[in-house]
Amino acid sequence: MTSIDELFHLMVERNTAGMVLTDRNGVILYINPRQLEASGYTLDEVIGKNPRIFRAGETAPEVYAAMWSAILSGHNWHGELTNRRKNGELCHELVHIAPIHDDEGNITHFFAIKEENVYAGLSHLLGGNLATIDPLTGLPNRAMMVAEIQSLLQATEKADEAFALMCLDLDAFHALNDRVGNLAADEVLSRIAVRLREAVRQSDAVARTGGNEFVLLLRSDPSEAMLEELSRRLITAIDTPVPLQGGHVTVTASIGIARYPLDGSDAESLLHCTQSAMSAAKSSGGDCVRFYTPSAEAQAHAFADLTSALRDVIARHELRLLYQPRINLKSGKISGLEALVRWQHPTEGLIEPGRFIPVAEETGLIVSLSEWVIGAVLAQQSRWRADGLAILPVGVNLSLRHFRSGDLPSVLTRLLATTGMPPECLELEISEGTMMRDPSQAFIMVDRIKALGVRLALDDFGTGLSSLSYLSRLNVDSIKIDKTFVRDITTNPVNASIVAAIIAMAHKLDRRVVAVGVESEGQAMQLRRHECDEIQGFYYAKPSPPEEIATLLVHGLSQQVRTEDAPSTEQTLLLVDDEPNILNALKRLLHREGYRILLATDGATALEVLAAHRVQVIVSDHRMPGMSGIELLSRVRDLYPHTRRIILSGYSDISLLTDAINRGAVWKFISKPWEDDALKAEIRHAFALRE
Ligand code: C2E
Ligand code: MG
Repeated sequence: MTSIDELFHLMVERNTAGMVLTDRNGVILYINPRQLEASGYTLDEVIGKNPRIFRAGETAPEVYAAMWSAILSGHNWHGELTNRRKNGELCHELVHIAPIHDDEGNITHFFAIKEENVYAGLSHLLGGNLATIDPLTGLPNRAMMVAEIQSLLQATEKADEAFALMCLDLDAFHALNDRVGNLAADEVLSRIAVRLREAVRQSDAVARTGGNEFVLLLRSDPSEAMLEELSRRLITAIDTPVPLQGGHVTVTASIGIARYPLDGSDAESLLHCTQSAMSAAKSSGGDCVRFYTPSAEAQAHAFADLTSALRDVIARHELRLLYQPRINLKSGKISGLEALVRWQHPTEGLIEPGRFIPVAEETGLIVSLSEWVIGAVLAQQSRWRADGLAILPVGVNLSLRHFRSGDLPSVLTRLLATTGMPPECLELEISEGTMMRDPSQAFIMVDRIKALGVRLALDDFGTGLSSLSYLSRLNVDSIKIDKTFVRDITTNPVNASIVAAIIAMAHKLDRRVVAVGVESEGQAMQLRRHECDEIQGFYYAKPSPPEEIATLLVHGLSQQVRTEDAPSTEQTLLLVDDEPNILNALKRLLHREGYRILLATDGATALEVLAAHRVQVIVSDHRMPGMSGIELLSRVRDLYPHTRRIILSGYSDISLLTDAINRGAVWKFISKPWEDDALKAEIRHAFALRE
């Protein structure tokens, strides 16, 4: 029986790949027969030497620099080296080097696996002198990838096989280049190249096809599920911070996928499809995946058109700002504004930010666009001040790229100085997701901005998965709860609890809370009951041009915000039934009892009424279209546990009812048709118990 150690030994000795083990200084300790044979040297000539002896002087110095930088910082490196055999012949090798660590994480050895470069052979077929390898990353270049796809197409035509191509483009790369410099950006590219190589199978190919663009050729199992799985892995691999001297950077990528034979039958058209799909991913804001479809193609065209049209948008004076008020729930007054940018396109009309902000981010225009917004906001405030209006803080949205790029604090200082406005009149809004992309950088930036006296808000809160400890360390003034939570706060007990918890937590940390997307009075009143500080939403005020805002600031809101509930001594009864004549009959019957009576003809309205008013007792029909009475009262139990809930129903629903009563959703069941005096007595009893 052969021991596992012996098997390992055999595996290495007999391997058809060349293998070399060195110590941490690069001194060769072991070389396997395959590699020894390829080199043409004897064992004695190699052991104890440095692999430099194989060098042919044909590999660019940057390749070695990238290699050492990767392996010395503990990462694997994959690339091409051109070496020389003892007899003087050149050999092109694809090399994979892995550092080996001890228990403390110190590098003790390096292990290299080498294979003869098949691409180098293909390069001869293509005419020999064509450059095939990208010197920075050691990956094949575009020409090589095209040749690779062509040869695969020839092979698969006969075998009737499928494969997939993936185009992966790093988002907003020139902004990164500007920020960290070319050398560091190159370092990022070579790190990402290694990660891509590591993420795919040995039989797949990875090429660098453009400045910040890679193409992956996936030979086996190009099923949708596999491609989605792989994309997710790639996105995570890219997303992991890249360590650089003096910190680290985080990048994202847009991925486009095309499949053979589904999307094209030759290399160029397949590559075109992957690029269209990738552009479509970019136009959705980047950091995502798209498969090629005709609609992705159309989206890519629209994106390209927007990209060129957006170029001089500032010089052509086509940007507009709308302002949306924020309302204080204690005073009912406007307490601030948010500036929201629009593009007044000469032919397409007003374009929403969701369509052009991603374009501006990708092209790097976002930095000048955001500066324009901040400058315009300050100029507008100074005009309002000159007109004698009170100065309110205005929120300005900052994108991730602007937050990180350039020198935001000095831009702010300059703009505040030229307009003579106080720093507190600006409140920069940064989305939670943006902050979470690179928390350590966010902490530094936030502190620098706060030091200027400018306020900060954490936007879209609830969507970015930040932790409590993170929030407590982030020095922001307020948090803005995302509209997706606010939307169903009156109907969905879970979201209502989340919002209540966010508010309580934020207050504990001494942050103000703004709820965005308030579209009904019920939502506003429920938020007030949870002690939310401010609200922003269409129900009270839509984003409006500055003239209309000036009118609002002078005359107040047309829709008043109730800042108090009805006195708790007032007995309020909610009646719910989809048949108006039954509602009227009930109302007439109970009118004399002195209650304040509210009516609703369906469950959704009932929940809205409950949110807007303090109600003690509810009488609901069971059989209603949409939400049944039991379903309604179950939600009411979760949202307003102190209410008394009575159901009016026929005996046929009795088993459902017993269950609802047992679960505590329903307090009393009264059968239809009801007996007037008995009903009155039950309701009186319900109010008495509530007190
Ligand atoms: P945001 O910061 O979350 O802005 C709030 C968005 O919610 C605005 O959309 C606003 O019109 C909308 N909204 C407010 N109340 C309601 C409501 O009751 N119901 C609904 N359904 N929506 C409501 P808008 O103006 O389309 O802006 C969308 C996003 O674009 C903003 O989201 C912000 O992230 C971005 N954005 C807007 N202006 C700028 C800017 O100047 N610079 C940057 N970088 N991003 C901007
Ligand atoms: Mg915002």
